[in-house]
Amino acid sequence: MAQVFAYILHKDGVVDDTALELAAAAKKIDAGATPNAIVVGAGDALDGVCNDMAASYGEVWKVANDALTYPDAEIVRKLLANILPADSIVLFAHEHLGMDLAPGLSVKLDAAFVPDVVDIEGADGSTLKLVRQEFGGAVSAHVTCDASQGAVMTIRPGVFAADESKSAGGQVVDKSADAGDFAATRKFLEIVEAEAGDVDITKSEVLVSCGRGIEDEENLEIAFDLAKAMGADVSCSRPIVDAKWLPKARQVGTSGQTVKPKVYLACGISGSFQHMGGIKGNPFIVAINKNAKAPIFQVADVGIVTDMLDFLPELTEKIEEL
Ligand SMILES: Cc1cc2nc3c(=O)[nH]c(=O)nc-3n(C[C@H](O)[C@H](O)[C@H](O)COP(=O)(O)OP(=O)(O)OC[C@H]3O[C@@H](n4cnc5c(N)ncnc54)[C@H](O)[C@@H]3O)c2cc1C
Repeated sequence: MAQVFAYILHKDGVVDDTALELAAAAKKIDAGATPNAIVVGAGDALDGVCNDMAASYGEVWKVANDALTYPDAEIVRKLLANILPADSIVLFAHEHLGMDLAPGLSVKLDAAFVPDVVDIEGADGSTLKLVRQEFGGAVSAHVTCDASQGAVMTIRPGVFAADESKSAGGQVVDKSADAGDFAATRKFLEIVEAEAGDVDITKSEVLVSCGRGIEDEENLEIAFDLAKAMGADVSCSRPIVDAKWLPKARQVGTSGQTVKPKVYLACGISGSFQHMGGIKGNPFIVAINKNAKAPIFQVADVGIVTDMLDFLPELTEKIEEL
């Protein structure tokens, strides 16, 4: 089996939750080997990130350069093509950077590409058995992937439990000199932080989150009633913001807020990767959805198949009784 590499996301010296999820996914591809990590960036905090990752990965390949202060997909794609051995198996988190650079990298490496993987059923030689979802999660596609010349895949955040074993005892290997030039036609301008709203859902410990299943603006009252009874805040998926039923500051997801609650009630939310990408810290997820096949049930700790418009008021009543 070829070497397996995980691309590590980090910001301000803090490693993204997906880093240890990718370690777990990599071990499902090759249980007999310790996977390797790639950490790129700039500044003093980079070494700390690399050292953290050495606990979970065999080798941590570091590439340091000021041009990587913001991880520009174009530069990262080129440097990965320069440093990775031919036939590598490379894992990215299925979020904006991974989606941006992974397809182009697979072309550069002439390797198979599989996006948005939700399960790895195993490997038989260089044949990988993977599961991904299609048609908005309505269909689970079981695919085989010939990785004899390498493979690049993106792994949906949250579907693999983080590998917390931290027993790899790995070492940091500086690959900066092999990375080639850092020229790019794209130019990073700035990060625009979202405006603060009436409530800061990024600090909430319990969230009652509403999706399109709420059906009507007037029905939001039942979510606010439940949140009040639970001492929670109300958040939502993007369609609710697009409909102007709630402000953008309450939107969870890749183009909204990143939240880290202890408990997340997903009410009438299908579980798109754009939504789930905004939920970090491995909270206890309770999903309420009338479609038993909704993708949210893949990541939920408790799944309740029912009409939320009936269920939420009943739950509020029971909590108030208690
Ligand atoms: C570039 C980009 C960025 C995006 N960023 C975000 C983002 O940050 N956050 C985000 O949320 N989305 C984002 N999206 C949109 C995302 O792709 C999904 O469209 C969105 O998350 C779906 O929201 P939803 O789950 O509420 O709606 P749907 O996918 O329509 O799901 C509604 C769910 O409610 C269930 N349901 C319906 N009625 C009931 C009922 N009465 N009781 C119980 N269940 C019911 C249905 O079975 C269904 O599963 C983004 C999309 C793009 C292209």
